[in-house]
Parts: sequence; C-alpha cells; structure tokens
Amino acid sequence: MNPLNDWINGIRSLLAPAMICCLICSKNGRPSAGLPGICTGCEAGIPWIRQPRCQKCGRHTGCPDCNRSGQSAPILYNRSAVAYTPVMRELLGRYKYRGHERLAPLLGLMLDRAYIQLKAYIDHPQNFTQVQSRQLPEHHFLRKKRANPASLWHADLLVPVPVSDSRLMERGFNQAERLADVLSRVRRIPQLPLLVRTHHTGKQSFKSRAERIADMKYAFAANSDNSVKAQFNSWLSQVKAPGRPLQILIIDDIYTTGSTIRACAEAVQLMCASHRRDAEIYSLTWARS
Ligand SMILES: [Zn+2]
Ligand SMILES: [Zn+2]
Repeated sequence: MNPLNDWINGIRSLLAPAMICCLICSKNGRPSAGLPGICTGCEAGIPWIRQPRCQKCGRHTGCPDCNRSGQSAPILYNRSAVAYTPVMRELLGRYKYRGHERLAPLLGLMLDRAYIQLKAYIDHPQNFTQVQSRQLPEHHFLRKKRANPASLWHADLLVPVPVSDSRLMERGFNQAERLADVLSRVRRIPQLPLLVRTHHTGKQSFKSRAERIADMKYAFAANSDNSVKAQFNSWLSQVKAPGRPLQILIIDDIYTTGSTIRACAEAVQLMCASHRRDAEIYSLTWARS
C-alpha cells in the first residue's frame, strides 16, 4: 500500500463513525446516533408507538379494554415505547431470560421516549388530535392541570414492578428495576422498590384475561423492609408537590392486559393513603402487546 492511501484511509476512518456490532441484528453497521449499541438500520425498524389509538392505555391498535364498563382505573395513563412485534419480543427475551445486560441502557433509553410522550400528552392534550380534545369533559383532570400553565407535569417517583424471590434467584436481576434505573438517571427522578410480590403468579402468558385479573388481585403488597420504609418516609417529607397530588410512575417491561400494573397501582395508592397523601398513578412500559 502506498503512504498516500494509508493517509487517506486514516482520514476516512476519522470522519466516518466507527462501525459497531449491533445488539439487535448482530451485524456490523453504522451506529445509531440516539440509541446505544444498535445500527441505524435497526433503529429505523423500531416499531415506536408515536400515536396511540387509545390515549388511556397507550395502545397502538383499537382498544376494547379501556371501554369496558365498570372497570375501575387505578392508573390514569400508560405509555409504552414500542409495539410488541416478534423482533421486540426477541430483544426483550435476550435481556430478560438470558441476562444480556448490555441491553439495559438501550431499553432504558427507549423507555425514556415513552416518558417524553406521556409528558407531552399530559401537558398539551390539545395537540393530540382534535377529537381527543373535544372529548375531554369539562371537569376532566387534564383540564384542571392545564389551568395552571406554570406547573408542567413530571413524575415525582418511579416504582418498578417487583418480581418474586424465585424469579430473582433464577434471573439474578429485576428487569423493571434496571429499566427504572436508566430512567431515574436520565430524568433525575428518585426510584424506590415500594412493592413486593406476595405470591408467585406463574406464567401469565398462558392464562386468559379473566384468570390474569383474578390472579393479580392480591399479588402485591407494601415492601416491609425497614430501609425501604425509611426511604419512603424521607421521600414523602421532602417531595415538592405544592397543592397537587403526588405523581407516581409504575415501571414495567411489558403491558399486556394491564392487570399487573393496575394491581401495583392499587397497592401504591393504599400506601400513599396510609400516609394521608393523594397520589395520581401512571405507568410506563417498554412494550405494548
Ligand atoms: Zn442492527
Ligand atoms: Zn386502552
């Protein structure tokens, strides 16, 4: 090789971004600018949920669940980052079951997009289709929030959905807690493991909707660990929420029927009520099935 070619190649490698081995497709490619560890091709293929069809649960397809009558709604809104396509399922499986820890920052930053969406909707619901803003009834709580433009929404606390002790032994980590860690760092929102699982609910994926809901009814309780209780008390005494309820965000990897999230929201709601604090509970989930 002649020295001029060496020199040109040297300059070229300085100018072009280094190739990476992509965490999704495992091929060498140009790195995405916004998400760590994946190629631009895979980034372009991520099934982001940019316009949920259901503003309540963040679902991208038609949603019969939120319209079912008589269903109480302990969470105000859920937002999910992506649709649970086969590629996303594979990615989550590698992270969750095979402990592919390098995926945590990627998935966590993807979850942050859902945070941005949730905040955008609560702060400016009028931007999300005309029909939606006409649908907001006169006393809708989003109207009250908008009455004070100085108070833009942010979450005061993140609470990850807990896994059972046996799951924790099996996997070595709680995937929801790891996702919450990333969000907590990026958004500077404290995170507390307020909940524990009271019984092992088995594989939810093999159960019917009704079975899942019945199963989840008493699946979560307040974490009785003394250090967690102390941290919660200290958080309650310091949190700045002038003239408004606490705004708490439940974090999980996937939203299927919402029964897990609702059960967690009820448990958190009870904990806040026992401290005589009103709380609005929201959820963020990485994928929506
Ligand atoms: Zn790729
Ligand atoms: Zn819905």
